[in-house]
Amino acid sequence: MRVLLIILDGLGDRPAPELGGKTPLEAACTPNLDSLAARGITGLMDPISPGIAPGSDVAHFLLFGYSLDEFPGRGVFEAVGEGLDLGSADVVCRASFASVEEKGGCLKIVDRSIGAAEEDCRELSRGVSEKEFGRVKFSFVYNGGRQGILFLRGEASSNITDSDPFDDTLPVIKIQPLQNADDKEKAKRTAGALNSYLCWVYGHLKDHPVNQRRMKGGKPPLNFLLTKWAARRRKLVPFAEKFGFGATMVASGVLYRGLAAEMGMDFIESPNLKETGEDLKSRLRLAKQAFEGGCDFVHLHTKAPDEAAHTKKPFFKRDTIEKLDGAFEGLSSFFSGDVLIVVTSDHSTPSSGSLIHSGEPVPIAIVGKNVRKDEVKEFGERACSRGGLGRIRGSDLMNVILNLTDRVKYFGTRSTPEDIPHRPRKVIPFKI
Ligand code: ZN
Ligand code: ZN
Repeated sequence: MRVLLIILDGLGDRPAPELGGKTPLEAACTPNLDSLAARGITGLMDPISPGIAPGSDVAHFLLFGYSLDEFPGRGVFEAVGEGLDLGSADVVCRASFASVEEKGGCLKIVDRSIGAAEEDCRELSRGVSEKEFGRVKFSFVYNGGRQGILFLRGEASSNITDSDPFDDTLPVIKIQPLQNADDKEKAKRTAGALNSYLCWVYGHLKDHPVNQRRMKGGKPPLNFLLTKWAARRRKLVPFAEKFGFGATMVASGVLYRGLAAEMGMDFIESPNLKETGEDLKSRLRLAKQAFEGGCDFVHLHTKAPDEAAHTKKPFFKRDTIEKLDGAFEGLSSFFSGDVLIVVTSDHSTPSSGSLIHSGEPVPIAIVGKNVRKDEVKEFGERACSRGGLGRIRGSDLMNVILNLTDRVKYFGTRSTPEDIPHRPRKVIPFKI
C-alpha cells in the first residue's frame, strides 16, 4: 500500500465569536473533507504534546517519525533549503534585514515588511558579509527578499538565543547562551561574539549611503539583521531506511526543500498559484505523478490555512478552507488502487488572539482498506474528538501509517541489527 499524507498547514483553530463559536474549519462548508471523515477513521493529534505550540519545522520533523533529540534546529533546514553547503562544524542561523530605531539604548523593531528592496539588501549585505570576533568567523550569505543565512565558523556553539523577539512590542534581544548548553563556555563566547557582530552590523548599516537614500525617499532604513534558529547539522537516518518508504515531498519553499534534503526524500517544488483551490489541485496532480514515477509515500503540503490564519481574520481562514475543500473533489478516485489517504495538519494557528501558533490538537482523518471506520461524519476539531483514533501524538503517526499499510514489524523480532519499526525488505541471508 502507498501513502498520501496531506498536511493542511495550521488548520486547527479556536472558536471565534464572529463564527458563532465555531472554528474556521467547523464553520466552513467542506463536503469533500466531511466525506473523507465519514469514510475513514478520525481523531485528534497533538503535534508534540498537549498545549505545546510548535512551528512547522519541528512539527513536520516529528510527524515524519524523527525524535526531538535528533532535531538539529531550523537553521539547518533553512540553510540547506537555500542550497548552501554546510560543514559538520558550521553553526548557521537565519538572519533577516529589518528596520530598527534606538530607544533608551535599546533597539526597537519598526518595520519588517520591507517590500521590494532586493537591490538595496544585496548592496548592504556586501559590507557585512565577512567579519571575525573572538574566535568566531561570521559570513553572511544573502538569499533574496530580506533573507540571508549567517554562518558562524571556528569556535562556535549553536546553543544561543535569538535576537528576533517574534513580538514587536519587545525590543531586539541580546544574544545569550542557553541555560542547557552542552558546552557553556563556548556558548557564552559565541553569544558575546554574535552580539559584537550585530553591533558592528548596525554601526555599518545605519549611515550607509543606501539607507541615507532610502530615508530621503521616505523608506525605512535596512539597518539591522535579526537572527534566529541557530543550529548545527546532525546526521539523520534517511526516511527510506527508517520506514521502508520511497518518499517524495510536494511542497513549496525553503524550509520544506531543506527538510526533504536532510531526510533524504525527493522534493517536487510546487509553484505557488494565486488561486488557493487551483494551487491544491496542481499539488495533487504532482503527487499523482510522483506515485506514477514509482514512489510509495507522498507528503503533500499546503501553507494556505496557516497564512490565512496569520492575517487574524477567521472569515478569511474559513473561506480559504472552503476553497481547499473544493480541490479534494474526487480525491479517492484520483488515487485509485491501494492508497492510504491521511489528511491532517502540523499545528493549530489561531485566527484570533495574539498567539502565533497555539497548542490545541489538530483533526486527523485516515481513509484506507484497513481502517476501522468510525461514526464521525464531519471533518472538524470537535467532531474528530469523537473519532476512533482517539488522541494521538505527532510521533505516533508513522507507526499508525506502518500498521495500516501492513508494513509494521512484529514487535520484538530481531531481523536486523538496527531496531527498525517496519518489516524489513531485505535481511542478510545465512550462508552455508
Ligand atoms: Zn505549519
Ligand atoms: Zn504559521
